[in-house]
Amino acid sequence: MQKNMIEDVFATRVFSDEVMQQYLPKKTYAALKSTMENGSELSAEVANVVAHGMKEWALANGATHYTHWFQPMTGATAEKHDSFISTDGEAKAVLEFSGKELIKGEPDASSFPSGGLRATFEARGYTAWDCTSPAFLKENAGVTVLCIPTAFCSYTGEALDKKTPLLRSMEAISKQAVRILHLFGQTEVQHVDCSVGAEQEYFLIDREKYLKREDLIFTGRTLFGAMPPKGQELDDHYFGAIRERQSQFMRDLNEELWKLGILAKTQHNEVAPGQHEMAPIYTTANIATDHNQLVMETMKKVARRHGLECLLHEKPFDGVNGSGKHDNWSLVTDTGVNLLSPGKKPHDNKLFLIFLAAVVSAVDEYAPLLRLSAACPGNDHRLGGDEAPPAIISIFLGEQLQDILDQILRKGTADHADSGEAMDMGVQTIPNFKKDATDRNRTSPFAFTGNKFEFRMVGSSMSIAGPNTVLNAAVAEILSKMADKLEKADDFDSAVDEVIHDYLRDHQHIIFNGNGYAPEWIEEAKERELPNLRTMVDATDYLTKEDSIKMFESQGVFTRPELESRAEIYYEAYAKALNIEARTMVKMATKQYIPAVISYVTSLADSVNSVTKACPDADVSVQKDMLTRASVLLKQAKDAVVRLREEDEKASTLEEGKAQAEYFRDVICPAMDALRAPIDELENMVDKKLWPVPAYGEMLFEV
Ligand code: ADP
Ligand code: MG
Repeated sequence: MQKNMIEDVFATRVFSDEVMQQYLPKKTYAALKSTMENGSELSAEVANVVAHGMKEWALANGATHYTHWFQPMTGATAEKHDSFISTDGEAKAVLEFSGKELIKGEPDASSFPSGGLRATFEARGYTAWDCTSPAFLKENAGVTVLCIPTAFCSYTGEALDKKTPLLRSMEAISKQAVRILHLFGQTEVQHVDCSVGAEQEYFLIDREKYLKREDLIFTGRTLFGAMPPKGQELDDHYFGAIRERQSQFMRDLNEELWKLGILAKTQHNEVAPGQHEMAPIYTTANIATDHNQLVMETMKKVARRHGLECLLHEKPFDGVNGSGKHDNWSLVTDTGVNLLSPGKKPHDNKLFLIFLAAVVSAVDEYAPLLRLSAACPGNDHRLGGDEAPPAIISIFLGEQLQDILDQILRKGTADHADSGEAMDMGVQTIPNFKKDATDRNRTSPFAFTGNKFEFRMVGSSMSIAGPNTVLNAAVAEILSKMADKLEKADDFDSAVDEVIHDYLRDHQHIIFNGNGYAPEWIEEAKERELPNLRTMVDATDYLTKEDSIKMFESQGVFTRPELESRAEIYYEAYAKALNIEARTMVKMATKQYIPAVISYVTSLADSVNSVTKACPDADVSVQKDMLTRASVLLKQAKDAVVRLREEDEKASTLEEGKAQAEYFRDVICPAMDALRAPIDELENMVDKKLWPVPAYGEMLFEV
């Protein structure tokens, strides 16, 4: 029987278990597996043999170079290629790759954001092999490079990347979850993994049109642009039939992802025109994070092959739905049990209820940190818009769990659970099936979805390392407090009930099952004293609050200096992103829009003159009205450009940090809006032929 394409290509570019068994001696393979699975130390000797096997495999697949692939604080990935070439002193090239080179790399750390942890003269940084995420081959236009996933730290051991804290947080949550499981008598469990599936939303537009828009090129989003007559109001795009060009893109994307061992599963059209989504099957948080970085990179690469551009910005088009990333998160034991699976009798499943209470409490207690973990300048435009979760963190539990929670709050424990009923669609030929116990709620930022939580706030361009690091650390902290209590209890069973009850009682205000898009929710959330942190700058403030530092330090996820440096990095990143946006706006307005409008008003004036000359009695009031309005808007635009340029120059002279970021938020953002408004109005007036860039309608519908 012929093999399916998926089987043919799947993981062919991964140093997978199968490949390891083929290229490594049995003893080495066993030692490496033990490090990967139990965290045991890896000897230099084993590393040497693994490096050799990896090299042989990479060479057999056409690679000439290897790289330590890492994830600095830019949110992107970084790589510096080294060839396998070495010399034996006889003017002959030999190919080498040692254990030392596998384990440790030394990129110059001074050019990556460090938030003051590294001065430029203290440039040393290390990348260290993360053997829990498999090495892979990246192929770029026929050039193949062996990529070794690594963590990146400074000479003094501080994390300079996104992976190190994530790995630390995974160890923290495993340790605390295991404590709880052992208290419940499940002593066979040695390790708990956090499983993550990241749904990725994106836009595809025609690359030729993309190249005509400097705002898209430099900032990833349109800084100007009027809404087309048709937007997404007909709901005809969501799940709509996928057109040929996009289908071909998706086919190629899937193939590339499958080769990398990424379990690309679902694909569909999203709500906005030109918007799509891809979701993989979940895997451990660490690998899911690496994979998601590769997904984003591959989407961009494959799109270009098809004459398309993939936009990953959170809000590429104002007034049209933006893109997010849904971080599906759960906890799974090494014996294969999903700790967030309620089972048939959730009211009786105390272990589930403990973990549920821990997540609810962690999300409430550390809501600002979770909000921050989903914050980037792009996401500020999306959260709180009426298509995305609001900037307020709340939890959706659904009817079944809400009912159990109500019972617990009323009586101390719950004694029954509603279950899904049989579905009757009124058609004989449709087989019967059981409904889920709970309907969906698309508006909640943090929703329980059957056997996992779905954190929907994350921005489409962001690394999922941050959100999962915060989630793991926060839940680990609550679990550790619960375990402290339970370990001391005389009567374990009643202590469990008490812990579940007390934690849910104290944190119930975070639960909201209603419509998160409704304006009334903002008011209600205020009454409940839930924080509403509208911007990245507002949220960054919380990173270095004493409570946050205490939590992260006690879980061994971040040190105080690491947190302080990260806050600096976020403020700087925000200011830099807005500075680029402001400068792009000034340039586009000055060099493109204003000259186009001047041509337009000149043609109107010419028309008035020539018509009047030809026929003095002719009515030229239409041209005159348009001329007057366009001139008013032109003046507004010109004034706004001058102001934006001045303010931006001033902002750039401020010292980097919080105050500068606040200046960008409070002064530059409104100045940008003030420039956009007249230009967008002019777009709707000016002759299409004169308009210098493609309009929304052309980009969104003509793909
Ligand atoms: P939906 O539209 O309901 O969100 P999707 O199929 O688009 O459904 O995405 C669901 C995502 O959740 C997938 O990436 C899937 O792998 C992930 N997922 C499912 N179960 C778990 C789990 N136990 N832990 C983490 N992620 C999960
Ligand atoms: Mg989803």
